[in-house]
Amino acid sequence: MSIRSAWLATLLPLGVALALAALAGILSGHFWAALALAALGVLAWHYWRMHTILNHIAARRRIHPPQGPGLWNETERLLARQQDETRTRKQRLTTMLRTYRAAAAALPDAVVVMARKGHRVVWFNEAAQRLLGLHYPRDLGGNLATHLGELSVPDWLSLGRDAEPLMDEQLAFNPGVHLSLKLIHYSDDLWLLIARDVSKLMHLEQMRRDFVANVSHELRTPLTVLHGYLDMMDTEEDPETSRMFAEMRHQSLRMTQLVEDLLTLSRLESQERMPDDHVAMPLMLAVLRREAEALSQGRQAITIEDSAGVDLWGSNKELHSAFSNLIGNAIRYTPAGGRIDVRFAHEGDGAVLNVTDSGYGIPAAHIPRITERFYRVSTSRARETGGTGLGLSIVKHVLNHHDARLEIHSEVGKGSTFSCHFGKERVVPRPAAE
Ligand code: ADP
Repeated sequence: MSIRSAWLATLLPLGVALALAALAGILSGHFWAALALAALGVLAWHYWRMHTILNHIAARRRIHPPQGPGLWNETERLLARQQDETRTRKQRLTTMLRTYRAAAAALPDAVVVMARKGHRVVWFNEAAQRLLGLHYPRDLGGNLATHLGELSVPDWLSLGRDAEPLMDEQLAFNPGVHLSLKLIHYSDDLWLLIARDVSKLMHLEQMRRDFVANVSHELRTPLTVLHGYLDMMDTEEDPETSRMFAEMRHQSLRMTQLVEDLLTLSRLESQERMPDDHVAMPLMLAVLRREAEALSQGRQAITIEDSAGVDLWGSNKELHSAFSNLIGNAIRYTPAGGRIDVRFAHEGDGAVLNVTDSGYGIPAAHIPRITERFYRVSTSRARETGGTGLGLSIVKHVLNHHDARLEIHSEVGKGSTFSCHFGKERVVPRPAAE
């Protein structure tokens, strides 16, 4: 029914009622009194309808759409329709919310919704109870940083948007379970913390490391024996055999170097750190010079400069391995007649060791990947120069251990500079010479 016909259905009976009242008034001789009585009756009926509808709305009762004509019936019908629509929308939203919550609750990863302000826990799933030890409803509204205080979480949370995922965290109540944590800012006020059980991954990683370390270790002895016998062979009579044996010696040396580099990397990766100590840089640079000259055999001009006047704090053996790898590369990737400059200098509150060469250089596209294991710019050149492909990985690991940073600048055809930047906490005063 349209609004217009509803108006008609209301006004028509009103007109008829007033006309009848006027007629009764004329007949009885009380025209005005009859009219006023009829008007009052109509008004009372309207108030009563309004009262019924208001009661329904106030009590949030369901309005049943009436059948009859008139404005009030139409109003009730429209209200009933609106109530139905709201109810359907609410049901749909509740179903959706239930589905999402059920999906989030069933996730194998721990999911915690928390308020940015005060890091208060707003919601968490079942896996969060298992992996993070949160209890429902005890921990709702609690501070997550306090709850996970034994992890590096409090500092990490305070980093907010800049927080990189945390890897390999362990909680005392869950020994043997390794967690990786990630923070997602999905709204201005709410953050999502996702914790994943990475124990299997860590176990596999450990197996990989152990495997490489064991194989390298097991290869060492047979290689030493082979190398020893090859050295003893006297092959001077026949030039053909002599060439063959020289190549065999060369290859067995390469293999030995490869095994040694793999063992060094395994040691660096296993976090079995050598204790930090005072590293006397004048002595270190003197050793590096001797080794560089032996390797270069006069093919390049080598300068070593020490203007820092300070020493380093770290592992002598590891740092020697990193620096000698950089200098070895500089020599191997610089043609005869080139220059190699090693410079140890002050840099702000810290120190820097630069290894600059005038060699082949590295195309810019390769630089970001150059510290990966076995990554080579040119396989043939690396093989020619006797590289193992592990040198820069070793350098990267050693520098990580020393909170230092490797920077690489290179231009093809002009040369490269590898810089090791050490922070102020790694710099120690050099004792006065006696
Ligand atoms: P490799 O044993 O093959 O030298 P590294 O890890 O030490 O392995 O180096 C990786 C690659 O980086 C090398 O194969 C080489 O292509 C490139 N590279 C390293 N140092 C230099 C350098 N000083 N000049 C030019 N290329 C270099």
